[in-house]
Amino acid sequence: MSFRTRILFALGAVGLVPLSLAASFSFAASKTELERTVGRAQAAAAAEAARGCERFIARALESLRMSAGMLPLGELTRDETAKVLGIPYRQLDFVRALALLDYEGALLAPPVAGPRLAGVHGDPAQVQRFLSHVPLRLAIDGGTAIGSPYRSDGESRIAVALQIRGQRSVVAAEVSLGEIEQRMRQLAGDDVARVVDARGELLAGNTTIALTRAELDLVSAAVAGRPVSRVVAGANGTRWLASAAPVPQIGWTVLVAQPTDDAFRPAHHVRFYSAFWAAVALLLIAVLGVVLSRGLTGPMEKLSHAVAQLGEGRYDVDLDIKRGDEIGRFADAFRRMAGDLRRRDDEIRRWNAELQARVDQGTSELRTAQDQILRTRRLAALGSLGAGIAHELNNPLTAVTGLLTILRLDLQPGSPQAATIQQALDQSFRMAKIVSELRAFAEQERGEGRTFPLDGPVRAALDLYAGQLAKQNIRVVTDLEASTRHTQGDPGRIQRAVANVVENAIQAMPEGGELKVQLTDVGGEALKLSISDTGEGIPAALRERIFDPFFTTKKNGAGVGMGLSVSHSIVEAHHGRIVVESEEGKGATFTIFLPAAAPAAHLA
Ligand code: ADP
Repeated sequence: MSFRTRILFALGAVGLVPLSLAASFSFAASKTELERTVGRAQAAAAAEAARGCERFIARALESLRMSAGMLPLGELTRDETAKVLGIPYRQLDFVRALALLDYEGALLAPPVAGPRLAGVHGDPAQVQRFLSHVPLRLAIDGGTAIGSPYRSDGESRIAVALQIRGQRSVVAAEVSLGEIEQRMRQLAGDDVARVVDARGELLAGNTTIALTRAELDLVSAAVAGRPVSRVVAGANGTRWLASAAPVPQIGWTVLVAQPTDDAFRPAHHVRFYSAFWAAVALLLIAVLGVVLSRGLTGPMEKLSHAVAQLGEGRYDVDLDIKRGDEIGRFADAFRRMAGDLRRRDDEIRRWNAELQARVDQGTSELRTAQDQILRTRRLAALGSLGAGIAHELNNPLTAVTGLLTILRLDLQPGSPQAATIQQALDQSFRMAKIVSELRAFAEQERGEGRTFPLDGPVRAALDLYAGQLAKQNIRVVTDLEASTRHTQGDPGRIQRAVANVVENAIQAMPEGGELKVQLTDVGGEALKLSISDTGEGIPAALRERIFDPFFTTKKNGAGVGMGLSVSHSIVEAHHGRIVVESEEGKGATFTIFLPAAAPAAHLA
């Protein structure tokens, strides 16, 4: 279920449920109260009407009794009696007919009825209907009797009968209930008011609709003597608030009824207004719910989008939420967190790059060290081979040189033989030099030697070539004072190692240039001597081979390829290292590392 739906449900529950409960309770309460109060007022009106009916009947009977008592009926003839009956008939306007009957029901005189004019007799059919409703037997038994209602000439009527004591006759009067009907109309207004007899027969009222079962039950309930009020089902299925009040002595009941829709209108108003406000509340809830949820779900969506961005490693999160509430603070915290993450990521990347560089450097140093080891082994093998050859060649060469010298002594200087012998001697000396180089290369042993400052052998080596340097127009730059440490070994052999490098530099700069010689301490544990020239440089492909014995690029016997081999083996014998850096055409730098004169210092 989405957050928005939940908010709507929650608001709906909080806003609508109490309102609906309050509305239904107040409707039920006001309806009950209205049923009580309106019912009571209605019952009081019905009771008042019932008393009115009672007074009307009592007055009618009393008037009849008085009139009949005053008439000298027993002494008159039939015609005289009829005339005398006309006197009260004309006085009592609610009487529609009068008759005098004996105990068997026979007329003792013609009945008086119709227009109140002397000698006029009413409609025989109406008179006959009246006579048929006279409660003769009841009057004979009880003195006074009221008959059942009937309609005649468009109005409701009853027949009442009075026994005339001592004359065995009964005066019967047809009484119009028009007055009661008039009262009922007034009482009813827009509603319904009726007077019914004990059987529920309609006597008077503003309607002629017969009573329903529920209304008859109400009438029966009212017969007990007290007005009763309740909601009953009326005709057409409508519901009525009805009250019934008995008319004492006579057995009639006044029934007043009002449609419940009218009676409970205030309660219905309560219900209508409750429903109206519930609808208004529902609308407000919907609007409020949408506004509230949008205020939450909008930022949430932006935040989850930003989180997804972070997850993809994009730390430049642009979170467009600027508010002063909790969500705004949360967004600020999120931005700070993204910033921290970005910084840490940058740091990690930097570390990675640094580590990679260190690994690369370590790898290259390792490779250099491996090359160094290989070269050392190779040169060691060649050294022992060279030593063997030099040893074997030395004695025969000495003998050849000696013999050639003796031969030359016997020859005339300038003779062709002497010249040939001299050539042979030159070649022998050359061979002797090579043998000597080979021995020098093979026999490098450091021994303990002595400690000495390195600048001495360096200056000596440079001095050896001072003339050649000047001649070739080579500028010499030296920086030998920076070093404070001594090294240990044989300064003579170190001088030779340096001299070989200087000689190569001079040969690389036939057109002149600059020779730079620099001496420094390295971390207090080693000395670093670098010799740079601005000569032709060494192609990369040759760079590894230049230390090999007999490797030379010099033409016409200018070199035998032993110089760097000898320098390398001398430096190695002093536990040092010699490396070269060069770019073709841009000169070369040879660097010699030697351990400082300390017992544990060793660079291999
Ligand atoms: P040689 O000097 O007899 O040739 P080396 O062992 O001293 O023998 O040198 C070997 C080779 O190294 C040289 O022939 C030359 O090609 C190269 N070389 C040495 N030093 C330099 C330098 N400073 N500039 C250019 N090439 C050099």
